[in-house]
Amino acid sequence: MEHSEDQITKYREEFKKRRSKRIILFGFSLVFLLSIGLIVLPIMDMLGVSKWVWAPFVYIIMFGVIIAISFVWRCPVCNGLLGDIFNTKYCSKCGFNFYSEKTKND
Ligand SMILES: [Zn+2]
Repeated sequence: MEHSEDQITKYREEFKKRRSKRIILFGFSLVFLLSIGLIVLPIMDMLGVSKWVWAPFVYIIMFGVIIAISFVWRCPVCNGLLGDIFNTKYCSKCGFNFYSEKTKND
């Protein structure tokens, strides 16, 4: 499929935006899980609150993050779900290259 230069630039910008959102979501879930493990868990233990009281909320929030990622982390060209955030250079569905490369014929 052929795209005009303008479209390609737009797609790449959109990809960058989605990638930063994806990184924010990733960072959030890391910080969230760390604070659960290091802060919430010991406090709840100290207070004698059973894990079954608060753990479901953790699962719900993590589930929400996963849902948000599956909405955000999509190819701007074909809307296909993308894979590994740190290794995605091409869309595995439509083959679009998200990073500009030197043109071969100049
Ligand atoms: Zn694609």
